[in-house]
Amino acid sequence: MKIIVLKFGGTSVGTTDRIKKVAKIIAKYKKKYNVIVLSSAMSGVTNNLINLSKKISKNFSDSEYDVLVSSGEQMSCALISGELINKGFNARSWMSWQIPINTEGKYKFSRINKINKNQIVNYLKKGGIPIITGFQGINNKNRITTIGRGGTDASAIMFAKFFNAEKCIIYTDVDGVYSTDPNKLKTAKKIKVISYEEMLEMASLGAKVMQPHSIQDARLNRVDIEVRSSFTDNEGTLITKRKNIINNKIITGISNTMNDAKVTLLGVRDKPGIAASIFKPLSENFINVDMVVQNISANGKETDLTFTIKSDDLSKTKRIILQNKKINFRDLIFDKNVSKVSIIGVGMVTTPGVTYRMFQSLARQKINIQVISTSEIKISVLIDKKNVRKAISSLHKEFQLNK
Ligand code: ASP
Ligand code: MG
Repeated sequence: MKIIVLKFGGTSVGTTDRIKKVAKIIAKYKKKYNVIVLSSAMSGVTNNLINLSKKISKNFSDSEYDVLVSSGEQMSCALISGELINKGFNARSWMSWQIPINTEGKYKFSRINKINKNQIVNYLKKGGIPIITGFQGINNKNRITTIGRGGTDASAIMFAKFFNAEKCIIYTDVDGVYSTDPNKLKTAKKIKVISYEEMLEMASLGAKVMQPHSIQDARLNRVDIEVRSSFTDNEGTLITKRKNIINNKIITGISNTMNDAKVTLLGVRDKPGIAASIFKPLSENFINVDMVVQNISANGKETDLTFTIKSDDLSKTKRIILQNKKINFRDLIFDKNVSKVSIIGVGMVTTPGVTYRMFQSLARQKINIQVISTSEIKISVLIDKKNVRKAISSLHKEFQLNK
């Protein structure tokens, strides 16, 4: 029998009623598969545990933090397993160290590097359903570790990899990935199939369905993921390799950011090394620079440089630039009222004219484009925040995403 990995997120196991629903879902798969279950903590529990650590100290020990915050998963796994036993199934819970799930790296941000399969394989052979704690592992010092917030996604992907599962199903509270934020556009459509690469672009741009780093793990290990809701029976979204996708759409999705800021330095000297002098101290301070444009200088001596950062980094960026003795400029301008709108799709690799269609569609709406950046499967423009809805809706139509 084939193996399937089911992952349940915090809201899916948020109450005992939800847990009873989860047990029903597991029972359904058990008819056809060997099922491995990974569960998050009940929603809110991990946050409460983190708050407790803060009440003890702002500098709470990292290793004890992992012991503390990983305890939520023990609770939910025991409850799921208990309910399955109630229903007459052969089920048991497993903590990461009992398996063990080995991790490497720092406390709070470890990575899974090995999963011991023996006990689980034997248990599956006997018809059992293992219910395993997500988010945690142990390191080579035999201490408990955690793998970053939302880490149960990554735990599930790694189980699917090591057990060569047919698929990893991520049960959450949304029923899939949409062509754009359904809260911004009513005609947003659920995407049936999306490639890892597109999903990564969607995730880092704000479609917060899965932890981006777990999608990267899935991509590297070629694990098929299905994202779906435990609250409805609707079909979800399949995340898979490009080869598996037969699709005539050029663009798969449109995403946008809401917390970007634009910085412009007017009248910087136009000579080698200046851009490096501006960005070096920013990178040393872990400020992530996203889009960059430099104007062609009119007189060969001076130019204007514009870039975007996260709004949270704005005051720090201001300070760093003003203190930078290596650069001269005439004026420094900041703008918090900007948003980056991106169209994403592997289809653009083979289709000419996509950039033109995007710009034309925005021009028709009289939306001014401030900065542009592109990658193989993405075109992003920076526009005034107040135009975001208008931009998304016209692009959604232009690339026929409501069909
Ligand atoms: N319970 C952990 C968290 O809230 C892990 C997870 O939900 O995946 O971050
Ligand atoms: Mg969670």
